Order: sequence, then structure tokens, then C-alpha cells
Amino acid sequence: MTKPNIPLAGVIGDPISHSLSPRLHGYWLKHNAVAGHYVPMHIRERDLEGVLRQMPKMGFRGVNVTLPHKVNVLKLADQATDRAILIGAANTLTFRDDGSMFADNTDGYGFIENLRQSAPDWDPKAGPAAILGAGGAARAIIVALADAGVPEIHLSNRTRPKAEALRAEFGPKIKVVDWVQAGNMLDDARTVINTTSLGMTGQQELRVPLDGLHKDAVVSDLVYTPLETSFLAQAKAKGCRTVDGLGMLLHQGVPGFERWFGKRPKVDEELRKFMLR
Ligand code: NAP
Repeated sequence: MTKPNIPLAGVIGDPISHSLSPRLHGYWLKHNAVAGHYVPMHIRERDLEGVLRQMPKMGFRGVNVTLPHKVNVLKLADQATDRAILIGAANTLTFRDDGSMFADNTDGYGFIENLRQSAPDWDPKAGPAAILGAGGAARAIIVALADAGVPEIHLSNRTRPKAEALRAEFGPKIKVVDWVQAGNMLDDARTVINTTSLGMTGQQELRVPLDGLHKDAVVSDLVYTPLETSFLAQAKAKGCRTVDGLGMLLHQGVPGFERWFGKRPKVDEELRKFMLR
């Protein structure tokens, strides 16, 4: 009797050594008793297409994709989800039996699932959302929040034309606010998100005045090193519920693991503790 093939998956990027995904998927493989493997792979841009075409032949069921390949893999995919197409980038690839490539973007999904788990009474329709930053992560957050039903999105970015470009692309729900006035957009916001890299260990702090922040606002930071950024600490001191960025990272991995390894993994306190060890 021949044994079934051992399922393989992994994460591709350049660089890749910093990725937490191998630790995350390794934990899920063990806790779900799946006899599979998940490996980090350092893939340069010039090798991307060739590597992806070979992977299904090597037994890979799919891969997570990180910088700088998120936009290019979407162009190479045979099929993609609506959300990946809207965001314009993919972070999860699944290889089908015929070798074709299916692309998804689960960043926005991970963000929303994390909010729902960490702040269960969060209501996207309660008021406008305020987003700081207009990079790749902000695109995924905008698509997810619009889909969740937020009435309006106030968007502020140091480089204003990037925020204007997102408004042109995603429509009139978005109102652009000048970076020096970013604090003003927090007054009536009920969902507030830092999508910039400010506040990350080794970077400058995010210095947006939080005086106007409403105590009912749910405040989230995509940065997860440190887990509690000074932005979150200040929001907490004002009585707001706060949601750190680690949960988003964990939740975005769920759809890929389920597709490749056939079991839906859990995101719980035990996993968070393991990831922080
Ligand atoms: P990105 O595309 O490079 O965008 C970076 C953003 O940060 C831009 O809006 C940029 O503004 C802003 N920024 C950088 N330095 C700044 C400064 N000194 N002053 C003001 N604004 C500054 O990066 P990304 O992919 O969107 O990622 C953004 C952050 O989210 C990173 O910290 C990343 O680790 C984190 N992230 C977390 C998760 C998670 O699962 N928790 C997922 C994705 C990303 P300009 O346009 O003016 O340069």
C-alpha cells in the first residue's frame, strides 16, 4: 500500500528570515496532528515565476507570500478572489491539482476577525473609521472595512497623494485628511487604525494627538513589536478598547492552513503565548 503524499506549504519572500509564519504554521501542524511541513523560502524576484511553476510538482499545496512579491504573484495567478483583485495584491496562494494557481488576500480578513475576537461588541456601522497610513496594509484594511459596512473612512498619510490615490480608486466613502491634522479625524471615529510602521521597535513613535478620541472607539495598531505600542497605551488610558497587531497576523494564516492541510486551526490565548515566547 502506498502512503499518501505528505502535504507541503511555506512562505516566500525576500528577505524571509524574520517571518513568524513558520512558527505559526508549525504550531498548528503539531496541535492538529497533521503530518505536513511548512518551510520559509528565500526567493528573489527574478526567480519568482519559475519557482512557483515548479512548486506544485514538488508536492506543495500552496504558499504564503510576503514582501516584495505580494503584487507580482497576483499577476501570475490563474485565478483570484475578488478581495485580492480589489486590494491588488495576494498573500496566500493555493496550487490546484492541475497545477493552476489560485490567489487570495487574507490580510483584511485577519484584521476583521481579530477585531471581532478581541472586541466582540465592535460595530463597524457605529461611526466612521479613521485610518493612519496609506501603504499596502491600508489597502487591505480599506477593502475589509468597506465590506464590513463602515459608513465613512477618514484617511491620512504623510505623503498625501498616496491617500488621494486610494480615494480615487476606492471611492467617495473615503475622505482624505492632511497628515498634520490627522488628530482631527479621530473626533467622531468609532474605529481607529494605525497602518503605518511608526511605533515599531527601532522606528519613530506615532505622534498623533489623541485628545479628541471618543471613549467608545475601538483602536487598533497593525504593529506588533512591541505588542502594546505607545499609540495603543495612550488610547487605553483614554478608556478605549485596544486591539494589537499580533491577532491579525495569526488570523490571516487561518484560510491558507485550512486549504492546504484540511483542518481549520484555532487562534486562542495559548497560541498567542506560544508566538510571544
Ligand atoms: P508600506 O506599504 O511600506 O506602508 C508604510 C506606511 O507607513 C505608509 O503609509 C508610510 O507613509 C507610513 N510611514 C512610514 N514611515 C513613516 C514616517 N516616518 N512618518 C509617517 N508615516 C510613515 O507598509 P505596509 O505593508 O502597509 O505595512 C505597514 C505596517 O503594518 C508595518 O509595520 C507592517 O509590519 C504592519 N503590518 C502588520 C500586519 C499584521 O498582520 N499585524 C500585516 C501587514 C502589515 P508614506 O506613504 O508617507 O511613506
